[in-house]
Formats: sequence, structure tokens, C-alpha cells
Amino acid sequence: MALAEFELIRQYFNTAELTFPRPGIVLGPGDDCALLAVPADSHLAMSMDTLNAGVHFPVDADAAELAQRCLRVNLSDLAAMGAEPLGFTLSLSLPEVSASWLQGFSQGLAACASHYQCSLVGGDTTRGPLAITIQVHGLVPAGQALRRTGAQLGDGIYVTGTLGDAALALPYLTQQPGFELSALNLADQQALHAAFYRPDARLDAGMALRGLASAAIDISDGLASDLLHVLQASAGARAAPGAVIDSATLPVSDVFARLVGGSDRLAMALGGGDDYELCVTVPPRHEARAQAAVQALGIAFTRIGEVVADSGIMVRDSGGACQPLTLTGYRHFGNQDNE
Ligand code: ADP
Ligand code: MG
Repeated sequence: MALAEFELIRQYFNTAELTFPRPGIVLGPGDDCALLAVPADSHLAMSMDTLNAGVHFPVDADAAELAQRCLRVNLSDLAAMGAEPLGFTLSLSLPEVSASWLQGFSQGLAACASHYQCSLVGGDTTRGPLAITIQVHGLVPAGQALRRTGAQLGDGIYVTGTLGDAALALPYLTQQPGFELSALNLADQQALHAAFYRPDARLDAGMALRGLASAAIDISDGLASDLLHVLQASAGARAAPGAVIDSATLPVSDVFARLVGGSDRLAMALGGGDDYELCVTVPPRHEARAQAAVQALGIAFTRIGEVVADSGIMVRDSGGACQPLTLTGYRHFGNQDNE
């Protein structure tokens, strides 16, 4: 590789902040491969996501924030499997070498890597349109991964955190007409920014739910769509089960409650993408333990409904009346099938 590229990697990526030692990492960046040690009783969990400028994030996004988002959305997949992060690789395509951009990107990445104790172990650096691919590697005890396939009739359906914040943030962050960020107070601006760029990867919750949850997924396309993935994956030999969701229980943030009008609430909470919260199903016999385990971590864990025999998703209002879920219009909020 060219000296300039070598120097760039040394300066911004092969740094002490990003390539810190961690049990299980035998060799980090610098050789032809990284080496990871996988204990005999564990499985290596791997997941990869690419974010393209102009498709998955605004072209002028802040480099540090972007780095945070890229790593967090990947870590969220480990969380959804109940895996513990080990290390990650980074493939970066850059249109130009900008020292300030690289500095910001490296710092944001390092802050996130150290927060989640996931060390950079290698990567690839090329010239081209701005694109960031991260692959995370984690460990999960053999047989204990949280799969999408285990939901059973009667299981409770739970979500971590709050729903719809990233969907609420997107039109503001992409400066859509009528969504002026500057019209909001500073705390709301910061909350929306964080919801989109710094979603919490629910790793501790995922690990705490090993052996308790029957199925899990992280919410990237919107709760309704991701819950349907779980229900379909859990079909087995019989027809896929369905879900009844109690609309009054859907957890939303303060800023969401204030900014989103009644008619949009359900569509955004159930249809908005990019939340990266966990949606899990829990058999009745484990519900009390699962709630206690996640809430002990200081993470909201809300029962929003249950798995039922009739396929599809029904929404139940506070009076007990059920209607099939229709989400017309929610795509307006930025969920554009571009994953
Ligand atoms: P090779 O030609 O053997 O594929 P490269 O020249 O692409 O190797 O990379 C040299 C070393 O630098 C490798 O260890 C690789 O993992 C590391 N590396 C390259 N780009 C990055 C990056 N963006 N972040 C971290 N490590 C990187
Ligand atoms: Mg090589």
C-alpha cells in the first residue's frame, strides 16, 4: 500500500484509543489479518452494515456523529443476538483525504469503541464516494443466542427504551420544509440529534435476556415491520403467529409526546425506522425475571402486547377494541427501504 495510505491509517485508525487490548483479541491491525480467540463453548457472532452518503445519512453529516452512528447500528445487531462485543473492522471509502474530517471520524469512533469496549482490529481504506462499512464481531455462549425464530403463542412482546424518536428526528436533520431544527429548544434539538446519531446499542439488555427471551430483533425498519420478521421467522410448520399491540402502552419520549400530534403517534411509533431498540418476545414463565433483569440495568422495558394465533398485527385501543394495523403515510418519515 502507498505510504500516504499507511500514514493515514497509522494516524487516524491504528491508534491507542481505537485499537485497545481486549481479552480475545490476539492481534489487531497491521498484519494481513486480525486474530480473534473464540472460546470452545462460545460462538462468534458477526454482522455488517454499510452506510452510504446521501442514502443512509445526510452528505454534510458531522464526521464524529457519523462514526458513532455507524458503530452503534452494528453493535445493535450484536445486542439483538445477546452477544458481547469483541472487535470490529472498518472499510472506509473516501472521496478525498480531509484531515479535519478524519480527525472527527476517528474521535467519534474511539469514543464509541471505548464506551462499548469494542476494539478496532483491522480494515480497508480506499478512494471513492463516501461510504462506511463496519463489521462487528462478538461472542455468545453456544446455544444461547437470541434468534428471531422462537416466538410462541401467549408470549409477551416487549421493547426497550422509547419508539419513534429517530423517525421524528429525520425530517429535522435533513431540513425538510416545515421542520426547522432551530425552532426547537436546545434540549429538544439535542435529544433529536442523539436519537438519530447516537442510538443506544442495547448490549447489556440483550445479554441479560439470554435464556429468558424466546426471540429478539433490533428495530431498524420500524417496530411493526421488524416484529413481523420475528413472527414470520417463528412460523415453523404452522402458519405464522400474529401480535396484538396495546396502543396505549407504546413507550415514547418526552420530546416525542410534545411534538407529535395524536394521529401521527401510532404511525411513527410503530412505523418509524432507525430506533435500534430491542423488540423481544418472552414466555409468560420468564416475564417477571426478564423485566427485573432489564430494568435493573436502568433500561426501560415495556410490555406492549402479546403473540396471538391470528396472523398479522392488530392494534388494541384502551377500550379494548382491536383493529388491523394500517400504517399509511409513515414512509413520509424517512423509512425508504434503503437498508
Ligand atoms: P492488505 O493489502 O494486506 O489487504 P491493507 O494495505 O489493506 O492490507 O491494510 C494494511 C493493514 O491496515 C491491515 O492490517 C488492515 O487491517 C489495516 N487497515 C487498513 N485500513 C484500515 C482502517 N480503515 N482501519 C483500521 N485498520 C485498517
Ligand atoms: Mg494482505
